[in-house]
Amino acid sequence: MAWSFWEKETWLSKYDIIIVGAGFVGLWTAYKLKLKEPHLKIAIVEKGVLPTGASTKNAGFSCFGSVSELMHDVALMGESAMLKVVEMRYKGLKEINATFPQHSIDYHNLGGYELFSTTGKYPIDRLRGDIYYLNNLMSSMLGLTHTFHETSEKIAEFGFQHVAALAFSPSEGQLHPAKLVQNLQQMVQQLGVTIFFKTTVEKIESNEKEVFIQTDQLGELKSNRLIVCTNGFVKKLLPSLDVHPARGQVFVTAPIPNLKVKGTFHFDEGFYYFRNVGNQLLLGGARNKAFEAEHTDVMETSTAIQDALESFMMEYILPAGSPHPTIESRWSGIMGMGAIKQPIIKEVQPNVFCAVRMSGMGVSISPIVAAELTEMVLNG
Ligand SMILES: Cc1cc2nc3c(=O)[nH]c(=O)nc-3n(C[C@H](O)[C@H](O)[C@H](O)COP(=O)(O)OP(=O)(O)OC[C@H]3O[C@@H](n4cnc5c(N)ncnc54)[C@H](O)[C@@H]3O)c2cc1C
Repeated sequence: MAWSFWEKETWLSKYDIIIVGAGFVGLWTAYKLKLKEPHLKIAIVEKGVLPTGASTKNAGFSCFGSVSELMHDVALMGESAMLKVVEMRYKGLKEINATFPQHSIDYHNLGGYELFSTTGKYPIDRLRGDIYYLNNLMSSMLGLTHTFHETSEKIAEFGFQHVAALAFSPSEGQLHPAKLVQNLQQMVQQLGVTIFFKTTVEKIESNEKEVFIQTDQLGELKSNRLIVCTNGFVKKLLPSLDVHPARGQVFVTAPIPNLKVKGTFHFDEGFYYFRNVGNQLLLGGARNKAFEAEHTDVMETSTAIQDALESFMMEYILPAGSPHPTIESRWSGIMGMGAIKQPIIKEVQPNVFCAVRMSGMGVSISPIVAAELTEMVLNG
């Protein structure tokens, strides 16, 4: 089929900026670019019929890290890098709440908890000291007070089993990630951004003046600048980056009468996470049970991980003697991970930029990543 003269004059004519990927990062970036420079002609090219990475597949925690996760990050990256990431998460969450009414994204500020098991690798006698250390850091660097406190007296109230201690973070909340994506999508379309769904970018070429992308549905598209926001899939287009795909699996149960869990919950440095969605339980993680197998961008679920999640639910979350609930939905999404948790935001070749490696926390950091990227793309 040949494109008409008219189509070539409109959808297919040269763009100022093309963004690859309509997840949180691509959408927030389009939004921020349009706010700064409303005249820009911008298109987003998305391979899925819906965004098909992590943004509509995640757990919807609007969090900035649990005690054991942050202590692990200090050991991995050092204090200041850990704090920089926490600052991005914190500011990102504030921006989400300032941009969207809470009801439009089902935001609930129920607080976040971390469970410490009686047999886990985290030494519980360190908890109070770690909380003290982290609270001091947060208060001196970010002005936050009482970020974490111990609340082990609530273990019985939740009905948890084999849990020796519980830490609480009152600032944490939960939201509906697909509603957030839908809101962002509507906002950018109202600002005049074109979104091409079901179109895969297969190849990128650029020079000092312009960028050419090859797509499977539209042929070649041209732009002055290109921004790649494909996170866990980025190596297909930019193979030299330190980002690899990491699959995250999740399930949601059928409604559970008198579900005690209310809020967001972390376990084992964030490798397990669960929350309530009304009176249903969402549980995800267990990637550490099969690191090799989950090092993939194939969007399937596996029996090994799903079984591990179900065992965890019965062993730790639901009160002893509870019946096994029906599992209503199971799915997976693809994260972008690397040696460290900081995102990569840079110009990778002339006029081609990227913002990738969201390290499993893109809900909160994406508005801040998008702001930094926008500044880089517009002002060099
Ligand atoms: C199971 C799970 C649970 C999670 N839970 C949380 C949580 O509770 N809180 C939190 O903060 N974060 C969480 N995350 C992480 C968070 O969802 C991601 O960090 C975030 O969505 C990344 O956004 P993104 O826009 O960078 O990438 P994505 O959402 O993956 O978007 C990239 C887009 O690029 C498209 N694409 C890829 N290649 C191409 C191509 N060649 N051409 C065109 N389009 C292409 C994809 O289809 C996709 O839509 C979770 C992730 C998973 C998988």
